[in-house]
Amino acid sequence: MKLFDIIIAGAGPAGLLLGKELSEKFSVLILEKNKIGTTNKNWLTYKDRWTKEKFSNSFIENEFSKWHVQLSYNKKINEMIIEDNFICFNEHKFLKYLSERVLKNKAVILENTPFRKFRRKNNQLIINDKFRAPLLIDCSGINSIILKKYNLIELPIYINCYAYIGEFDKVDNFNYQHFFKHDKKNYSVFGFTKIAPKLAQLMLFQYSNKKINLKTYRKLMSFAQKTFRIPKHKIIEMKVATYPTGVLKETCLDNIFLFGDAGFYSPSLNGMGFNEILRQYHKISKHISDCVKTNKVSGENLTLPKDIADDVNNLILRFFGMIINDVPIELSDQIFNVLKKLSKKDIQRIMRNDINDREVLKIIKQIIEETDISRLIKYIKKHHLKYIIRTLLELSEDIFTEEIHNLVFKHHKIRIHDMYT
Ligand SMILES: Cc1cc2nc3c(=O)[nH]c(=O)nc-3n(C[C@H](O)[C@H](O)[C@H](O)COP(=O)(O)OP(=O)(O)OC[C@H]3O[C@@H](n4cnc5c(N)ncnc54)[C@H](O)[C@@H]3O)c2cc1C
Repeated sequence: MKLFDIIIAGAGPAGLLLGKELSEKFSVLILEKNKIGTTNKNWLTYKDRWTKEKFSNSFIENEFSKWHVQLSYNKKINEMIIEDNFICFNEHKFLKYLSERVLKNKAVILENTPFRKFRRKNNQLIINDKFRAPLLIDCSGINSIILKKYNLIELPIYINCYAYIGEFDKVDNFNYQHFFKHDKKNYSVFGFTKIAPKLAQLMLFQYSNKKINLKTYRKLMSFAQKTFRIPKHKIIEMKVATYPTGVLKETCLDNIFLFGDAGFYSPSLNGMGFNEILRQYHKISKHISDCVKTNKVSGENLTLPKDIADDVNNLILRFFGMIINDVPIELSDQIFNVLKKLSKKDIQRIMRNDINDREVLKIIKQIIEETDISRLIKYIKKHHLKYIIRTLLELSEDIFTEEIHNLVFKHHKIRIHDMYT
């Protein structure tokens, strides 16, 4: 049985970025169930975060300083333009490059080798009955078997994501063309999350795996054409995927650590997980190195101190996720109208996952004041509402406890102390 210091499951950006750092000091094995970098998409991230990392610019496919945010499909697309320095870069090339760096450090990467099972023996983990290590880092993404086995997602919401495969080079009037230019064949994959009957959030697609049935296909096709103004003949194929978002109960179980999408480093709702991985991996790899060096790889040592910002970012995304998934169109429009009044700077921060508790409270308070909140509350599931209110109360330090209490009590007859039961 082969012994390593660290075994990593999954060679996506999380596994490979951590693998690159950790293989400089330790013996590392990376197990990847497919071939590395086989998905066909580009990622979007912030230029400054990328520059700080000093990776070559040759991975960058496009740079742009304006990002068009389409909040509602029937409004003009350029109503909301956010200035920021975005880059869009090629996932395939970048992951290949990272795997070369990992191999240079004498780490082992096994492609087409899924992490299937593990057992514990004398404080060590035996993986797939073949490999042994004191530490496993689960970077296998949102379908992680560890997430499922230990039921680690609290209050999961499953969001449907649809993807087109189509030709995009000559699409007029369409602001997202820059993503697709990289593809020599002039077609590419992109996707959207349908968040309410008439609203969609556009994303570059990653988890497309299932084809959809003909009825849904037709419905979505017409939705996509209307929403994104894509001519019918341009769409070659449509796929669907479901991905969970929620609150992660633990990022560590004894000597198993979860990172990337498996560790919910960025709630998948905003589709900026790569960006968060880029921001966090130095900190995480340092932390893991310290644990391995001191031979203290128990859960206690591996659990990172919880950052208040994580709670806040989780809250805002779940808050919007829970609401826009379930409410009728007029109500979600009301919420978007509140969001539209925010300054560019605030919107930029939300998109960057960089907001603090005061800013979140300000936005939520504004929503409470300016929307038909009593109707809205009726649509939110009781256990979701409890979670939102509890977190709000914890964050707000009595800023508007009374208002929240009145609202919730009026509509659900729940008292504040019930929130904690
Ligand atoms: C539609 C969509 C659009 C997105 N757009 C952006 C964007 O523009 N910018 C951005 O920053 N982020 C974006 N994201 C998020 C980003 O893609 C993810 O956060 C990021 O890919 C997560 O990286 P990861 O390494 O944790 O997981 P993944 O990228 O999912 O990689 C996991 C790897 O593990 C492998 N694996 C899975 N199971 C096993 C197993 N049992 N054994 C071994 N290997 C296994 C998989 O094959 C894969 O290679 C988007 C996400 C979605 C869904």
